[in-house]
Amino acid sequence: MYLRFFSRVSSVMAGPRPVVFSGPSGAGKSTLLKKLLKEFDGVFGFSVSHTTRKPRPGEENGKDYHYVSREDMVAGIANGEFIESAEFSGNMYGTSKAAVQAVQAQNLICILDIDMQGVKSIKKTNLNPIYVSIQPPSMDVLEKRLRARQTESEESLHKRLQTALVEMEFSKEAGQFDVVIVNDNLDEAYEKLKAALLQEIQKVKNTTKA
Ligand code: ADP
Ligand code: 5GP
Repeated sequence: MYLRFFSRVSSVMAGPRPVVFSGPSGAGKSTLLKKLLKEFDGVFGFSVSHTTRKPRPGEENGKDYHYVSREDMVAGIANGEFIESAEFSGNMYGTSKAAVQAVQAQNLICILDIDMQGVKSIKKTNLNPIYVSIQPPSMDVLEKRLRARQTESEESLHKRLQTALVEMEFSKEAGQFDVVIVNDNLDEAYEKLKAALLQEIQKVKNTTKA
């Protein structure tokens, strides 16, 4: 009985496992994670990264990203404020310790949307997330989606497609991801995602009820 009590206390104290989303730019990570955040309000929280890229129309500072200068980002990294950071398509991106702590302090499942380099860095930490790879059905579809999104210059689009090839190969390496979801039909991909995260979702719901 004591054992059950202590294991319950320690699992509550440990909090839910974070979830890392990774995969090529344009694969549908933001689309899927926004659906999760909307359906499971009070269960998931987004780790707001820092970036040196400019905001896209509709993006909000402090919600989608913290938009900063390269100078400030470099200084923050040197100051030990980041868990990981990477250069992607000509800009810097990084997960600050504060971003993750802000979500975990609320006992929510912390969602990180990070590139392949970020995944490799996070694996060296004690964050212990569930690693989810979101993949497009093909390079052709990926290019069409990225073009249709109308957020990238021709140069940025090409850089992202080049990197996508590497990210797609990385997702095939055994043991890199707990689950790989091909985002062809959005509803089907979303159902697969929910199924993969069900256990953690239930954990948070049970904690909230207790
Ligand atoms: P990422 O966050 O991985 O860069 P987005 O979520 O921005 O990708 O998706 C890229 C584009 O593709 C967006 O315009 C989005 O609306 C669209 N999209 C996402 N998933 C699908 C899907 N299953 N079918 C068709 N279009 C999609
Ligand atoms: P975008 O410019 O399309 O928002 O993001 C470009 C890429 O940067 C995506 O693959 C996204 O996952 C990644 N990214 C966003 N935030 C971070 C971060 O904090 N760290 C790392 N390593 N990658 C990030």
